[in-house]
Amino acid sequence: MALTDLEIAQACVLDPIDKVAAKAGIPADALEPYGRTKAKLSQEYLDSLDAPDGKLILVTAINPTKAGEGKSTTTVGLGDALNLLGKNTMMALREPSLGPVFGLKGGAAGGGYAQVVPMEDINLHFTGDMHAITTANNLLSAVIDNHIHQGNELGIDPDRITFRRCLDMNDRELRQVNIGLGPKANGIKREDGFNITVASEVMAALCLASDLQDLKKRFGDMLVGYSFDGEPVYARDLKVEGAMAMVMKDAIKPNLVQTLEHNPVLIHGGPFANIAHGCNSVIATRTALKLADYVVTEAGFGADLGAEKFLDIKCRLAGLHPSAVVIVATIRALKQHGGVAFEDLKEENIPALKAGIANLEKHIETAQAFGLPYVIAINEFATDTAAEIGALETWCRENGHPMSLSQVWAKGGEGALDLAEKVIALTEQPNDFEVLYDEKLPIEEKIRIIARRVYGADDVVFTDEAKEQIAEFEKHGWDRLPVCMAKTQMSLSDDPTKMGRPEHFTITVRELRPSLGAGFIVALTGKVLTMPGLPKHPSALDMDIDGEGKITGLF
Ligand code: ADP
Repeated sequence: MALTDLEIAQACVLDPIDKVAAKAGIPADALEPYGRTKAKLSQEYLDSLDAPDGKLILVTAINPTKAGEGKSTTTVGLGDALNLLGKNTMMALREPSLGPVFGLKGGAAGGGYAQVVPMEDINLHFTGDMHAITTANNLLSAVIDNHIHQGNELGIDPDRITFRRCLDMNDRELRQVNIGLGPKANGIKREDGFNITVASEVMAALCLASDLQDLKKRFGDMLVGYSFDGEPVYARDLKVEGAMAMVMKDAIKPNLVQTLEHNPVLIHGGPFANIAHGCNSVIATRTALKLADYVVTEAGFGADLGAEKFLDIKCRLAGLHPSAVVIVATIRALKQHGGVAFEDLKEENIPALKAGIANLEKHIETAQAFGLPYVIAINEFATDTAAEIGALETWCRENGHPMSLSQVWAKGGEGALDLAEKVIALTEQPNDFEVLYDEKLPIEEKIRIIARRVYGADDVVFTDEAKEQIAEFEKHGWDRLPVCMAKTQMSLSDDPTKMGRPEHFTITVRELRPSLGAGFIVALTGKVLTMPGLPKHPSALDMDIDGEGKITGLF
């Protein structure tokens, strides 16, 4: 039987972190070690980095099945392959959230022979960044309620507090809660709710901040709610941004770890890919670009959400210029787009595969719309047949799309040497990267541009509530920010059942939320859960640790 991700990771003899650092040119005295195999990079060292940027490669994907199509796996494997070719390469990845670890199986640090280690630590408490984010978030919540309890000088309306508490746990009971249930000494009674920590605005702000002072300013800019007069109240009105930044003093530093092949990886920050932008921190990406000639990074979900937000939000706000895009496609997801049910994806089905390619085609057009060169990486699964792979290769060849079969899950870096060579060739050509819209355009216009050009929608419908919110945002001057779309990841449309490349559809924007600390406006096209629940049989029930400290059942 094939080894599990956990068994493969446990069999790896890790290099000490100073050896991994040396490979990236990082001196030992720049490390703040957390044990033997993890370290943060010191602030002095981060401040001292002064080198021309390397080349930035984004790994994105087609609309996934519910199992994920292997972006993290491909990112790690491609980085290892570039290193095998002698290229000085680092990877920049997101930090996994702990809550979902206990829910459904599925690693968040790559898979098979393309993983980041120590995977147990990375998936559990790691270096405590999630704890710091949770604390900074809940400090603000505690200060809001205390302010009201102590006389409410700012006149905060308890029924219009928009900032919620958070916890890194899948716990549906906390989505909507009553707090302060008396007596009076226990604070005011009001409704609140919890987000999972990765959905906290503190996480999004961390990931877009350039340094701790910038993060402090972003904390101050966060909207906490409205006064009885309907005026916005910001965190800075409560004078709490300094303490929040203090809590984040170590969490702001990127974490260095290694792949199974001992290549350097920075893992830092992991915001939700729906109500936030879904990519690792700007600080980690910039650091990797200073240290390496090639940096491979990823963005959550398919290119319609992840790549669009990576390019339109992160690259715009951080002034990054990517060199190439890798679009991960799997035979199983293409068959799903061609109408096959999830349970039947293991069966060969060439007609469905050919029909499903339309989904890939749309994401290729998205890379082209941003002016970026791309290569398709077919992430090979053991269930793929030679005829299916052949059919996809033929389509790519006939339509002039660069493509490579990636076998990193089974073989590690060796499985992506061809992909790596193709990526290097793409990065040698200059490109005409451009964001899709001017952030100063009206909110409706920005959303229309994304919906038409990236999703292929005919138009966008705004509910009355959304229209009122847009008017309100304009009044407060919040409208000149990039838009962060919250949409289903399953479909190019806002209907998760529409597979392939839907046509003649509209997108409905139901709600807008200002994420002023992060620096974007969230447009919600459907109900987005910011606190997941556990399934009927949570994977936590199959996890264990023995007397020797050996973990089982964690992926
Ligand atoms: P994404 O980043 O797109 O969500 P991941 O790289 O995290 O996807 O992979 C999702 C899951 O699928 C992981 O558990 C991983 O081990 C598994 N996986 C990825 N690629 C393959 C493959 N080629 N064969 C088998 N399992 C795979």
